[in-house]
Amino acid sequence: MRIVRYAHNGRVGVGVRDGDRITPTRYADVLDLIRAGVETLSLEGQALPLGECRLLAPLGAPSKLIFSGLNYRSHTEENPGAVLPTYPQCFAKLPSSVIGPDAAIVLPTAEMQVDYEVELAVVIGKETRGVTRADALDHVFGYTVANDISARDVQFRDNQITTGKGFDTFCPLGPEIVRRDEIPDPGALRVASYVNGERRQDSPTSDMIFDVATLIEFFSAHITFYPGDIITTGTPAGVGTFRQPPLYLRPGDTVTVEVDAIGRLTNPVVAGWRDR
Ligand code: MG
Repeated sequence: MRIVRYAHNGRVGVGVRDGDRITPTRYADVLDLIRAGVETLSLEGQALPLGECRLLAPLGAPSKLIFSGLNYRSHTEENPGAVLPTYPQCFAKLPSSVIGPDAAIVLPTAEMQVDYEVELAVVIGKETRGVTRADALDHVFGYTVANDISARDVQFRDNQITTGKGFDTFCPLGPEIVRRDEIPDPGALRVASYVNGERRQDSPTSDMIFDVATLIEFFSAHITFYPGDIITTGTPAGVGTFRQPPLYLRPGDTVTVEVDAIGRLTNPVVAGWRDR
């Protein structure tokens, strides 16, 4: 099942997408659907043509987003300052940075060194605290795609990751949530990113240092997760900042991140709000 949040004729709804049709549910927020339990889901009303709907971030305001750092071997190897981590690394991405498909990534200033990172994102389905690796995937509602937009100059200036990755619009999310029963093994997917159609990242998720179940076990030993919370899984090699010369996002660019079996998330890049 593929769940979308959309705007249609001025109304925001949550629906189930099948091909180019969206069948509405009675919910306006995916969080309500997750809390109610998908088994209670009843489809209501007439299916809407996908082309008449504007897709929104599937979760507008998750209570928390825990993003993994340095979780692909290839990304650790391309980063001259990194060593293979002993434990999962993470930081908090801010709920106010979330945007949906096709919404603009706004550069704070045009010359800021802003980068892309494709990430498989896990949507938690129920309260999760202290789970074992063996039980971890039972706590997953589904999966979506995240773009961990990162201002490298801010991130590396003083290692304040939350500010460098927390600007408004720096968390594109979507385009939909795929229920976990359609993805029995999140370690058998492929992630990729593109800037203006040129492929920049392309990796199997089997290159993760800590797999999805291990990340949930580790983080839930420290943090309680609630329905709709997001855990991401890191990014592979190919980010702009470690290229020679570095390649950063510029106004007018279009960046796409994709996870096979889930979907493609595309966002335009626009000039800085501080410059306007
Ligand atoms: Mg990242």
